[in-house]
Amino acid sequence: MNYKKSYCMLVTGIWSGVVMIFIGGCLEIRCGVAMIGNAIAVIGLMLMAGGIVQALIFYKCPNCGKRFNIRGRQPKFCPECGCELE
Ligand SMILES: [Zn+2]
Repeated sequence: MNYKKSYCMLVTGIWSGVVMIFIGGCLEIRCGVAMIGNAIAVIGLMLMAGGIVQALIFYKCPNCGKRFNIRGRQPKFCPECGCELE
């Protein structure tokens, strides 16, 4: 696992999580199928949490191991050691 893959999984996890929570919410409110809506929303939450947790572990500088800010954009240079990131 490298930081690029990790960042990709973070973004994918959060977005698919948001979409699933949204769909789950719609099902629950509009269609009255609370069980299914809840289940989908919970899976969405888990996807989001999974994306964030793996990013906390793997989203870091390949050179010095400094963790990047997962809320910002992917940096061009490591803020700690200044090594260039693609
Ligand atoms: Zn670094």
